[in-house]
Amino acid sequence: METKDKELLRGGQFLVKETKCEDVFTPEDFSEEQKMMKEAVMEFNEREIIAHKARFEAKDFAFTEEVMRKAGELGFLGVAVPEAYGGLDMGFVSTLLVCDYISSGTGSFSTAFGAHTGIGTMPITLYGTEEQKQKYVPKLATGEWFGAYCLTEPGAGSDANSGKTTATLSEDGKSYKINGQKMWISNAGFCRLMIVFARIENDKNITGFIVEYDKDNPNGITLGEEEHKLGIRASSTRQVFFNDTVVPVENMLAGRGEGFKIAMNALNVGRIKLAGACLDSQRRILTTAVQYANERKQFNTPIADFGAIKYKLAEMAASAYAGESATYRAAKNIEDRISLRVAAGNSHQEAELKGVEEYAIECSILKVAVSEDVQNCADEGIQIFGGMGFSEETPMEAAWRDARIARIYEGTNEINRMLSVGMLVKKAMKGHVDLLGPATKVQEELMGIPSFETPDYSELFSEEKEMIAKLKKVFLMVAGAAVQKFGPDLEEHQQLLIAASDILIEIYMAESAILRAEKNAKRFGEEAQAIQIAMAKLYLYNAVSIVEKNGKESIISFAEGDEQRMLLMGLKRFVKYTNYPDIVDLRIAIAEKVKAENKYCF
Ligand SMILES: Cc1cc2nc3c(=O)[nH]c(=O)nc-3n(C[C@H](O)[C@H](O)[C@H](O)COP(=O)(O)OP(=O)(O)OC[C@H]3O[C@@H](n4cnc5c(N)ncnc54)[C@H](O)[C@@H]3O)c2cc1C
Repeated sequence: METKDKELLRGGQFLVKETKCEDVFTPEDFSEEQKMMKEAVMEFNEREIIAHKARFEAKDFAFTEEVMRKAGELGFLGVAVPEAYGGLDMGFVSTLLVCDYISSGTGSFSTAFGAHTGIGTMPITLYGTEEQKQKYVPKLATGEWFGAYCLTEPGAGSDANSGKTTATLSEDGKSYKINGQKMWISNAGFCRLMIVFARIENDKNITGFIVEYDKDNPNGITLGEEEHKLGIRASSTRQVFFNDTVVPVENMLAGRGEGFKIAMNALNVGRIKLAGACLDSQRRILTTAVQYANERKQFNTPIADFGAIKYKLAEMAASAYAGESATYRAAKNIEDRISLRVAAGNSHQEAELKGVEEYAIECSILKVAVSEDVQNCADEGIQIFGGMGFSEETPMEAAWRDARIARIYEGTNEINRMLSVGMLVKKAMKGHVDLLGPATKVQEELMGIPSFETPDYSELFSEEKEMIAKLKKVFLMVAGAAVQKFGPDLEEHQQLLIAASDILIEIYMAESAILRAEKNAKRFGEEAQAIQIAMAKLYLYNAVSIVEKNGKESIISFAEGDEQRMLLMGLKRFVKYTNYPDIVDLRIAIAEKVKAENKYCF
């Protein structure tokens, strides 16, 4: 079905508009081509990565490079790259799918893959000139060359625009000399090209450059030793030093001072891809955990039969289901937005850039939510394995260590939390998302007398969808009151911003899970989708608790007296179920299904 501009929600609009289940894309909507791609990637993952897991854990950096080269030969590095530059041009959903299913074997390969195909290549496909794209992208898309992205410095991490690396124009105006130190650079040990950010004179913003790196002719570039890391042990991470590195002027990316914009937009794409890259890890952790739990007996009983273990299996499954639902929903929105822009006459490059930028809020939400879900899942995975979970002999400890980095890179989760709310407020101020109208309506509702009628909840998810609508009111009520109270100073109140972002995140994730389960129930039948429905309901129930906690803390921090009482009463009303779901029964049903299938099976 063709998507029309007015039907497609803008980024952030999910908060103020109702989405119909027919309008979301779900993993069950993969095309035949996408399913074939998924099979091919899963097979590659099993054969080339999982079978050699021990080599990655033993810090075999050369092996990571070798497997990357094989991925290049099979076309996996060029899925997102236009055909004109040697790629497969498969669209955004397919790009996500490859990131997803190639990433679960080890975080080492997943990081190398993400750094190369995402931040190492995308700045050129998104911002490069025709000459730059012709010269470099085919080499990157095929794996002839590998890319790295040099933004972070010892003194410039989250404050990425504060770097001290300099770029000085030569007297003849033909080249720049780059001097400085970069830190934590993924793929540094085997890359042939670096995207380097440096400051020209006293510019406010940094500038991006494409820098070739040939070990035999290093051009002033030296590498530090490999870092000794908690996880992703065979991902090459080094410092990079530039000492009068000469870069021709034609290798500047976009314009002077455009580097910060490039860095931020490359990270938007990187964030949703990182979410995708955590999904299959989560599925694999659950599968490994349930297989162990079915086998392991204590008190003459498989531990999977204990309620305490069922609790964990069900929670792990529900969060993986929500992660998949939200990631592919956003990916398809991005793909559709790109198509609409291409149809409207934008170049593919411009369309892709703007398409992803439009959903930057969702990209931040996903990065935070899925990176935390995979970490929690791995933690519970260790617990299910008991003492064996703590041993290097089982895969859980490596999964846990590898998952940890996802909360740090591509912008820490604190930064992404604050960004998601900050971007939403900015969009509202620009008139792209109307928050004021709905927020005013919520205020009026708070002043009015609540309805005591009991609505008809007989239709599937009618109460849950009403609950989602109420959670959106909580966000509007809390964020609206906070904006009124603090105005532009709100950004100084980080605990409030983080609480607001937790509410926002839960709304998006829970709504996505419910819409997916509803769509599937309509087409495959409620009975066939009973467990998916249970997972969506369980996820929402947990989301309501998180929203209630964050809403309450926020309200009592900035409101007093009558206002506080009114807001707390509103909160109570907005997080109240008429018919509470029996969460214990839901968890048991989910766990029994996962146990019976002996894997994550959705
Ligand atoms: C294994 C690994 C691979 C990496 N790969 C790359 C790469 O390929 N290229 C690259 O350029 N970089 C890379 N990085 C760097 C990574 O992006 C940074 O580590 C990250 O952005 C955080 O910066 P920092 O480490 O300096 O932490 P800091 O910025 O010092 O942050 C420390 C803590 O303070 C918090 N904090 C910072 N500022 C604020 C604020 N304004 N408000 C509230 N809290 C704040 C952070 O959230 C964090 O919890 C990598 C890092 C690692 C560990």
